Amino acid sequence: MNRSRKVKILATLGPASSDKAMIGELHRAGADLFRINMSHTQPEEMHRLVGLIREVEAEAERPIGILVDLQGPKFRIGSFAEGGTPLSRGQHFILDSNAEPGDASRVFLPHPEIFAMLQPGHRLLLDDGRVQLMTREVFEDHAVATVENGYRLSDRKGVSFPDTLLLLSSVTRKDRVDLEAALTAGIDWVAMSFIQRPADIDEIRALTDGKVGILAKIEKPQAVEHLAEIIEVADALMVARGDLGVEVPLEKVPGIQKRITRGARRAGKPVVVATQMLESMINAPVPTRAEVSDVATAVFEGADAIMLSAESAAGAFPVEAVATMDRIASEVEQDINFRSIINAQRAEPLATDADAIAGAVRQIAETLNLAAICCYTGSGTTGIRVSRERPQVPVIALSPVVATARRLALGWGLHSVFGEEAEDFDGMVNRACELAVTEGFARPGDRIIITAGVPVGRPGTTNSLRIAVIREDGKGAA
Ligand code: PGA
Ligand code: MN
Repeated sequence: MNRSRKVKILATLGPASSDKAMIGELHRAGADLFRINMSHTQPEEMHRLVGLIREVEAEAERPIGILVDLQGPKFRIGSFAEGGTPLSRGQHFILDSNAEPGDASRVFLPHPEIFAMLQPGHRLLLDDGRVQLMTREVFEDHAVATVENGYRLSDRKGVSFPDTLLLLSSVTRKDRVDLEAALTAGIDWVAMSFIQRPADIDEIRALTDGKVGILAKIEKPQAVEHLAEIIEVADALMVARGDLGVEVPLEKVPGIQKRITRGARRAGKPVVVATQMLESMINAPVPTRAEVSDVATAVFEGADAIMLSAESAAGAFPVEAVATMDRIASEVEQDINFRSIINAQRAEPLATDADAIAGAVRQIAETLNLAAICCYTGSGTTGIRVSRERPQVPVIALSPVVATARRLALGWGLHSVFGEEAEDFDGMVNRACELAVTEGFARPGDRIIITAGVPVGRPGTTNSLRIAVIREDGKGAA
């Protein structure tokens, strides 16, 4: 299977997509990676889903990326004696440490450590921002707030603290359990929710032992403030617009989306645009015009991946949602303005061997209109740096490490292939020529460009490139 689409599709699995047949259908319709959201998935179920994805992968003979999304420090209020309470603007409402059911004047906040960090004047946003409270007074074990907005609050609603710097670990006990299970299951990317600082990424990295890529979800204003440093330490980013749109005013989200995608592209870190992309397709087989335009914007911006959440996890039209994304993305990438928009955001190569070669490879491939770029990549770095160049020419990223091939499924324009390395550079050139034909990117007589590190098998040594003509029988270089 060879897709000409550059942007990748990341589909979240859930009740609507939890059997093998459906996962296979989603993959055929265009999903390149799957997300398992641990906010709604038990570790046993995660293990089962990973197993099913690997079966689909083996049958399709294409590496598939798996992203496990950790819930992070998500806060919830307790329950009410009557399931909820009406609220009226201006009234006082108390959050406290009393586990008794709540009433019209108070409710339990089962996170007592918050009271040490909350200050008068800080906002509390509950139920995805439908209820807004303003903190008035804070005590050791409770806080008094006034209702600014909202007319009803019910059991176990989420609460966020957009103005409060939470001096807590972003990795909760549940996250640690989920992460360990995910590492055992053999996943490729782990996403961290509600991170605030670069140190949060360091913390999770220490727990993963280099086994997976770490994706930072940008969904808090504190993370936006530290964006540059977070981009530096993370392996990939997500514009997590769902929670971001609760924590910052909605009208700021599009500008922040541009800052994140551009910053990530400049650094060469894959970036995912997520949430509500085709929201109406949860209940309908066609999207709205505004949603089509939203998906198109992300593709024009050069995002590495676009994501489906409830559309594929819990909607009535999961396959249609993936197919719709695929169609929109493919159309945008054929648009006459696409190339110039993508090129306008290209950053100069850094002063490293890998970047200099990646830049040169793209230029040569485009100048000579070569059929494909083939890069040998052990750790995945060369693949990612070539992807950063956003070449027009198809890129085959060949790795002898299956985990690398799977992880690279996230990279813009990368057709990753798992396969053994040849013994020397001539052998690699021959393999690349064959592969370009068998994977459907080139025909005998076409020319391709190959990049690799020589001698073979030493990581971090990308230092060679060659232009080769494919033999008339398609077997190797002429
Ligand atoms: P979630 O993250 O779906 O795990 O909440 C994405 C978002 O907040 O947009
Ligand atoms: Mn979120």
